[in-house]
Amino acid sequence: MSTPSLLILAGDGIGPEVMAEVTRVIDWYGAKRDLKFNVSHGLVGGASYDAHGTPLTDETMERAQAADAVLLGAVGGPKYDVLDFSVKPERGLLRLRKEMDLYANLRPAQCFDALADFSSLKTEVVSGLDIMIVRELTSGVYFGEPRGITPDNEGGRIGVNTQRYTTNEIRRVARSAFELARRRSNKVCSMEKANVMESGILWREEVQWVHDNEYPDVELSHMYADNGAMQLVRWPKQFDVIVTDNLFGDILSDCAAMLTGSLGMLPSASLGAPMASGLPKALYEPVHGSAPDITGQGKANPIACILSFAMALRYSFDQGAEADRLEKAVEAVLADGVRTADLMQKGDGTPVSTTEMGDAILAALDASL
Ligand code: NAD
Repeated sequence: MSTPSLLILAGDGIGPEVMAEVTRVIDWYGAKRDLKFNVSHGLVGGASYDAHGTPLTDETMERAQAADAVLLGAVGGPKYDVLDFSVKPERGLLRLRKEMDLYANLRPAQCFDALADFSSLKTEVVSGLDIMIVRELTSGVYFGEPRGITPDNEGGRIGVNTQRYTTNEIRRVARSAFELARRRSNKVCSMEKANVMESGILWREEVQWVHDNEYPDVELSHMYADNGAMQLVRWPKQFDVIVTDNLFGDILSDCAAMLTGSLGMLPSASLGAPMASGLPKALYEPVHGSAPDITGQGKANPIACILSFAMALRYSFDQGAEADRLEKAVEAVLADGVRTADLMQKGDGTPVSTTEMGDAILAALDASL
């Protein structure tokens, strides 16, 4: 296989700071595991607006389409709040997701034992937690037509959004979830509101169809999304893969993510249809934003971005064992008590800097050889 290509879009705020640590990890794989990537860099968000007057140029969009995977840092910041909606930094990210047709958003909620007491839930509820939420990302109520705010007949206004899903949209994200489940504990729970929404009935029927016709070996259950929210905070370990629509997924994935502690720990992947290589179009990014309050201070936790690269190793480069190695290195560093400021409570001692966290992870990678 030719050297896989990776487009890095570091973006704004702490994006370049955390990405610098990921770049060191990528270099480590080249030097120590002979795992080379054809890495190129580009601008996105405010950084692209400053250079080109647009949050994503057509040229960068084309490079993203051609890359085996895209790794993004973060976009946005107060400097850009005054910009017109059409050129806001977030538009660059939305364009990438839309034009690459990244319909399956993977949000793992994994609790490292060393951070279990950091969760707002009891340690026994979250310790060892490892679940994956698959959220449909390109359709549903955030995109459905008609939408808008119009006057009503009584001098007031009506706000309308439309929840709309097609068979194809549901089946393709369901397939992503079943494929993932086969690599994990072989269990999928699908969440919707089939009790009150026709789109929920269709969702349930189509997920069941994909199961019965293509993945009968995977255990499938269905749950109403409101019950799902309760179950996530009651006993999250009952789940393995959860698949749900755009709106419920937005809420449930944030809820699940917070089971595990800090924003600085959370990776994500957005996957689309398979390319000629058989691997999916893919964008990997930490869940956090550009954190303007700590930008330039060496305080950012690079782990979310490093774990996003681990997801790229697993889902785009077919390097599951090396992804395991990287995740275990992060786990070992945390078990040793190495903490950036976001992972500390008052009186916990001195935090390490972004670069020192990178140093510790590289040392743990060395120790894994
Ligand atoms: P944020 O995620 O940037 O920050 C929220 C809080 O978490 C801040 O206190 C921040 O310091 C902290 N934090 C975030 N990541 C951290 C890390 N890696 N290490 C340590 N602490 C970390 O969210 P926000 O403050 O609501 O948004 C700031 C900017 O980021 C806005 O312009 C927003 O639009 C943008 N944003 C971008 C994305 C993205 O690029 N995907 C996501 C969310 C927000």
